[in-house]
Amino acid sequence: MYLRDIYTKNKTIMSLEIFPPKNECDISKLFETIEDLRTLNPDFVSVTYGAGGGTREKTVDIASNIKNKMNIESVAHFTCVNSSKEDVLNVLGLLKDNNINNILALRGDPPRGEEDKTKIIGGFDYAYELIRFIRKHGDWSIAVAGYPEGHPKAKSLEADVENLKLKVDSGADLIITQLFLDNSLFYKFRDMVVKRGITVPIVPGIFPILNFKAFERIKELSNSFIPDDLFGKIEKVKDSIEDTRKIGIDYAIKQSEDLLKNGVAGLHFYTMNKSEQIKKIVSALKNYF
Ligand code: FAD
Repeated sequence: MYLRDIYTKNKTIMSLEIFPPKNECDISKLFETIEDLRTLNPDFVSVTYGAGGGTREKTVDIASNIKNKMNIESVAHFTCVNSSKEDVLNVLGLLKDNNINNILALRGDPPRGEEDKTKIIGGFDYAYELIRFIRKHGDWSIAVAGYPEGHPKAKSLEADVENLKLKVDSGADLIITQLFLDNSLFYKFRDMVVKRGITVPIVPGIFPILNFKAFERIKELSNSFIPDDLFGKIEKVKDSIEDTRKIGIDYAIKQSEDLLKNGVAGLHFYTMNKSEQIKKIVSALKNYF
């Protein structure tokens, strides 16, 4: 099923994000996790590309297994940084061969230390160029990334919303957001996006905090605002895995509930390839799903 059709269903859409593990034995563990998450009846599972050192083939293989063997709709993330048009065409061919209809189209980030590497001649600078290219080469449904607090390298939030408009006008059907921990920032962003004339669904990405170290990762990767009360509560119990998880899960439940009450079309959960916390959160939200 195409993403664009999934979001016309008369229900709240629930999606899950997983990443390809580095080694083979963790892949079978991942499929057990997805099997466990199947009980939640997710509308689709998306598979990241590159984060954690995976290859495109791994992403396509896993997305194909989810779709063709497990019968759960899947979305393959697809980054274009350091790719030639030929590379992209090859992956599009693989996706087609594997019956994968949905792509999360991204620019991606160059590997650390290679930011200044000469760009591939005839390659892609930004996600909107990839979206236009994909549109020309087949009938995929395309999601893109949105940043409620602005992309860390954007000139301003306004400039980033302009970029989002360009991505949607280039052919995106859906926006999935970067994690955020303060819903008021999402609502402000959503108002700006709607005011700019973007009409596709804007789906919040929910990242439950499971350990104190997650705050460091957030600062490093997305630089999202961390509310003082959440930081303080977790700092106090950071030596207890159990207490930390409980606070993080409760926070994600409250955050999700508030978003659902405020009319979002669905929630996209960053699972980190673990099922227990997602099952707890979704079961607390069972009236919505
Ligand atoms: P773009 O939309 O192209 O934007 C990148 C930057 O360039 C922004 O600052 C934008 O404002 C600016 N910009 C865009 N167009 C122009 C222009 N014409 N002129 C000047 N500036 C411009 N990364 C992975 O490696 N693998 C994944 O699987 C992955 N999945 C993700 C899933 C989600 C939901 C999200 C939110 C992010 C994901 N990322 C992933 C991270 C993403 O690749 C990085 O955030 C990357 O830096 C930007 O990608 P983008 O597609 O948003 O880029």
